[in-house]
Amino acid sequence: MGFQAQIEEALRALDDAGLRRHPPRISGTQGPTVQIDGRRVLCFCSNNYLGLADHPDLVQALSKGAEREGASASASRLITGTMDAHEEAEQRFAEFVGAEASVLFSTGYAANVGTIPALVGPGDLVFSDALNHASLIDGCRLSRAKVLIYRHRDIDHLRGLLREHRAEGRRALIVSDSLFSMDGVLAPIRDLHDLAQDFDAGLMLDEAHALGVLGPEGRGAAFAENLQPDLIVGTLGKSFGTAGAFVACSRTTAGLLRNRARSFVYSTAPPPAVIRAALAALPLVRAADDARQRLREHGTRVRNALRALDLPVPDGNGPILPVPLGANDRAMRWSHALFEEGVFVQGIRPPTVPVGTARLRLTLMATHREEHIETALAAFARVAGMSDT
Ligand SMILES: *Cc1c(COP(=O)(O)O)cnc(C)c1O
Repeated sequence: MGFQAQIEEALRALDDAGLRRHPPRISGTQGPTVQIDGRRVLCFCSNNYLGLADHPDLVQALSKGAEREGASASASRLITGTMDAHEEAEQRFAEFVGAEASVLFSTGYAANVGTIPALVGPGDLVFSDALNHASLIDGCRLSRAKVLIYRHRDIDHLRGLLREHRAEGRRALIVSDSLFSMDGVLAPIRDLHDLAQDFDAGLMLDEAHALGVLGPEGRGAAFAENLQPDLIVGTLGKSFGTAGAFVACSRTTAGLLRNRARSFVYSTAPPPAVIRAALAALPLVRAADDARQRLREHGTRVRNALRALDLPVPDGNGPILPVPLGANDRAMRWSHALFEEGVFVQGIRPPTVPVGTARLRLTLMATHREEHIETALAAFARVAGMSDT
């Protein structure tokens, strides 16, 4: 079989398994409503939790930044890519989460696949939650350290693995999402922190979904618990409404990352204008207590309403509400039926979630208004009542 035919076969296999994805195309800005194929629908699946993606302050900072500093960083940070915007942002984001220093990356994905292999390698150990984000999983794999996977949020399992294996490795690192991206629950952060201390391991906490949403001024879940993990990953493409990521850590760790994280060393630095926009988001995020309160209220209201429809939405700690549906085609049928009702909620299938746990992943925005929520819940009620869903 020729190469192209083999590729065709791989794509057909995805089709046959109900796993082929066709991302919808959005015109205009990202907000509580979006335009898809010329149709305005309510959006309940974006990570734009605080509604900042089209905020005028961010847009203005982006365009002013571009006027002053151009459209590109033009090189890796280690060559000619370190610009004022990067250094300023690294300082401000470190302060924001209570760390000494931080290192900027172009995306959260790049941050995780670059950071883990810079910290651990062959002869070391990394302990990873079974439901960690794909970028953490890939970072673990790339590190070539021995990877020990503990059951989701199961601190006893982690303790057992540490007891059994800790002596095998020189360095050890525990990695976890903070607010889990697909089921919306928090990691047992304090227990992770204590175990890391007890077993002389580092702790890396990915706060992608918690930053801006949890903690005082949106400083994240670790800050809220008054804990300082060795590394905090924050992304700028979610609550911060822009793009990029930072890894907050000690000055020493930052020094190692700048020298050893391959996605930092061998990749063009993020455009300075984008970083200016993220800096413009910072005071808005900090001042968004009302928005965070609204998010919590939306969360309680929607969770209760969906449960009243017999949908087993689990308890959670933030604006991510999984609606478990099991089979892949069932999740997609629900997603399509809701879309017909003018409500866009993406179905999530393996490999993003474990086989047999396909779901709708509903996310809320502080900018969802009362009538948006009502419309969405009415659509859910109709779809839940359909015979073929
Ligand atoms: C979204 C996400 C990332 C990736 O961040 P990007 O900036 O989108 O690449 C990393 N970790 C977690 C937990 C995420 O949810």
